Amino acid sequence: MLSKQTPVAVVWLKRDLRLRDHAALSMAMEAHKQVLMVYVEEPSLLRDPHVSERHQTFVRQSIVDLNQQLNGLNSKVLAVCGEVIPVFEKLQKHFQFSALYSHFETGLAVTYQRDLAVAQWCKERNIIWKEYRQQGVFRGLQNRKKWLSLWTELMNQPQFPFPQQKKLVHQKSINALERDFVNLPLSKTKSSQVQPGGEQYAHQYMDSFFEGRHRRYQTHISKPDLARKSCSRLSPYLAYGNLSMRQVLQRTEAEKAKGKKGMGIKAFESRLRWQAHFIQKFEMECRMEHQSINRGYWRIEKAKDEEKIAAWENGRTGVPIVDAAMRCLVATGYLNFRMRALVVSFFVHQLWQPWQACSAFLAQQFLDFEPGIHFPQIQMQTGVTGINTLRIYNPVKNGLEHDPEGNFTLQWVPELNRLPKELVHRPWDITTIEEQLFDFSPGKDYPHPIIDLEKSRKFAADTLWNMHKDPVVYRESKRILQRHTLPNRNSI
Ligand SMILES: Cc1cc2nc3c(=O)[nH]c(=O)nc-3n(C[C@H](O)[C@H](O)[C@H](O)COP(=O)(O)OP(=O)(O)OC[C@H]3O[C@@H](n4cnc5c(N)ncnc54)[C@H](O)[C@@H]3O)c2cc1C
Repeated sequence: MLSKQTPVAVVWLKRDLRLRDHAALSMAMEAHKQVLMVYVEEPSLLRDPHVSERHQTFVRQSIVDLNQQLNGLNSKVLAVCGEVIPVFEKLQKHFQFSALYSHFETGLAVTYQRDLAVAQWCKERNIIWKEYRQQGVFRGLQNRKKWLSLWTELMNQPQFPFPQQKKLVHQKSINALERDFVNLPLSKTKSSQVQPGGEQYAHQYMDSFFEGRHRRYQTHISKPDLARKSCSRLSPYLAYGNLSMRQVLQRTEAEKAKGKKGMGIKAFESRLRWQAHFIQKFEMECRMEHQSINRGYWRIEKAKDEEKIAAWENGRTGVPIVDAAMRCLVATGYLNFRMRALVVSFFVHQLWQPWQACSAFLAQQFLDFEPGIHFPQIQMQTGVTGINTLRIYNPVKNGLEHDPEGNFTLQWVPELNRLPKELVHRPWDITTIEEQLFDFSPGKDYPHPIIDLEKSRKFAADTLWNMHKDPVVYRESKRILQRHTLPNRNSI
């Protein structure tokens, strides 16, 4: 049993919910005799508009999974509700809080502020806080000249092993500690439509990807229905640290060595690099949570239209592929890259709405919400970086190209089921005779499009192209290129 004199090192779990390749856990176990793993579910974080119950469930499932594995080591995670500092203060009453271990986090403003407060708290109490890298993201970089070599070095390092030593605080002591806290209600409940959280599921998804699903990665990546199977689906496991990026990369290298060398594997591997590349941008300019990175675009005027926003959120815009994607996202927490880009493009360009009005809603829906990818990607799709090609996705063309049989669209917009496939992506082209023939009435069975697709596209394109000449946009673009791009931009 623990006493006030027992020195214990605390491993503070955040978005690193795994036991393998866990630097903070391994280093704590190497240096200390007693190690306690703690997860704190913070009300202040749950109140943030980007966080949803979907994320909370995934985290809780991940802790259940950790506890199943830790059972073999007679330990468990102390998983409690509360704010971090009051929780740590309470722990100090039970043992000598000798050190704090965790991974660096490139998170929302709310977690950054909390980390500053924790650093101050540790300093005032002479508690050493050791933080380790897990993502190939480096704090304090001024530009990207050395980033790729730093990233490569970190990814090539050997993985930390599964904890074997019996240094973890015993279950019985943790049960006793729990009496002093509000404990997380942990349950195994999982939805059939949303990916389940946990390190063991993460490895199952990784295995099945390399064992077969990867074969059609390249051909299916942009198809909204087929990508769900042929893409790795590792994003939530990476976002919550059920897997480290190093594990995925080293596994990819091992599979290549065994002979898997197709274009799909190559394309997959470069996306693995994009993960940290994007998070590094956010690490270096975290105001992207609220502001466009290129200040020149701050003067764009977009009035919020709540009716349009509600139609988009509810999949009732009258544009089939957009509505299908939004309904699918809300139900399942996942969309492939192309559909994510398309729904954002539709929102910011065709509905002419500020990106800030969609970012929290999307973050809540994406099970894999990773701030460092989310904000830079949304801004890229909105065309407010000044350094990326402006893309305004044509929803009809994308529907015809990537969902030619209408399978995905009809699954999520069954109102269109009576239409022949030629009309699924543009039901507004139905003739009066066809309306009778297919017993389908536009505006009644399915909404008319809430905007004129062609006019709205032209307006957005003209406005954004004109802004390219703005001196502030130009100056900022140069600054962004210098600060955020690699010496050889195409090397990633
Ligand atoms: C508006 C928008 C928001 C996005 N928000 C997120 C987010 O919050 N979290 C997130 O993980 N991805 C995000 N992405 C990137 C991408 O869509 C997802 O990573 C990918 O669809 C996840 O599916 P997968 O794991 O099967 O990917 P795979 O294609 O199998 O790729 C493997 C991994 O590589 C990384 N990756 C893949 N594509 C990208 C990319 N374009 N940029 C950066 N990393 C990438 C991810 O970690 C992914 O899990 C966003 C894209 C857009 C357009």
